[in-house]
Amino acid sequence: MKKHNFSAGPCILPKEVMQKASEAVVELDGIGLSLIEISHRSKEFVAIMEKARSLALELLGLEGKGYQALFLQGGASMQFLMAAYNLLDKKAGYVNTGTWSQKAIKEAKLFGDIVEVASSQAANFNHIPKGYSIPSDLDYLHLTSNNTIFGTQIKEFPKTNVPLVCDMSSDIFSRQLDFSQFDLIYAGAQKNMGPAGTTLVVVKEDVLGKVSRKIPSMLDYSVHASKESMFNTPPVFAVYVSMLTLQWLKDLGGIAAIEEINERKASLIYSEIELNPVFSGFAAKEDRSTMNATFNITDDGLKEVFDSMCKEEGISGINGHRSVGGYRASMYNALPLESVGVLVDIMSELEKKG
Ligand SMILES: *Cc1c(COP(=O)(O)O)cnc(C)c1O
Repeated sequence: MKKHNFSAGPCILPKEVMQKASEAVVELDGIGLSLIEISHRSKEFVAIMEKARSLALELLGLEGKGYQALFLQGGASMQFLMAAYNLLDKKAGYVNTGTWSQKAIKEAKLFGDIVEVASSQAANFNHIPKGYSIPSDLDYLHLTSNNTIFGTQIKEFPKTNVPLVCDMSSDIFSRQLDFSQFDLIYAGAQKNMGPAGTTLVVVKEDVLGKVSRKIPSMLDYSVHASKESMFNTPPVFAVYVSMLTLQWLKDLGGIAAIEEINERKASLIYSEIELNPVFSGFAAKEDRSTMNATFNITDDGLKEVFDSMCKEEGISGINGHRSVGGYRASMYNALPLESVGVLVDIMSELEKKG
């Protein structure tokens, strides 16, 4: 039965990427060896790493602008501490927009003073704080562009002279932004780029080397940059699949093309949530995420029926996170518009039954 994969992460990847990746596990491009049994220093893998790094910069429009793209390990969670290790000398600001921001704050506190410049915690993170002031003496301001759990997304980034650091784990490559406004971007691969096991870090070279502490090699962006992301054995499979997904995105027409599709998917589900009295949206309208739509069922008595209708149609992975409850439909780049259509049809069918 055809499945419609709304999983929040790890999540859906393009079918053709899966096909090519599975072939490469058996034999990479006719070389008689598997991708995962050759040296990462082989010319075949070096080319893969180079391509992944250059595709990332090209898609973000950051080629030749003094940025390095790195494929590291440890997940986005490792970046919570690595960002602070490398950039936090005395004081940094954090905007607290949810669980992942809070985890980033917790790690950064080990390295210096942390100012929470704004927070939406009192409203259970149902919106993005706006109009806050940013102290000018911060080493950086940390933002979470898309709050995967709560379904909110920053639409306008603050204008400031303070360097911007952004956790883009769940919406990188999904919409057009001026990415050069950020000094450091990081994103775990498993939400819009590839399998778990690698994290994309895009760092502006001139923001490095400013802290006084000594940094262990494995945690030092400069070391990884100078070794072209090959300081030690990289997660070869995760990098390869990420490269294939980035190539898929480029062939599709890049971020501009996928943004259009993502907007169509989002408006399809949000207009159903708005018009259908059986459902209510969780996030404030102006901050709603194009990647993760969070919603509740207004009549608990209909939950069981809805769940079984979803199951019958192959809808998978729409249960909300335990801290929000209800439902969450994650609509990452590789999710076809058709899948959202199937879900929306069930939602309107339920209204007729209710
Ligand atoms: C999933 C997620 C993380 C954590 O990623 P890991 O790779 O599991 O460490 C961090 N930030 C955001 C916004 C996420 O969605």
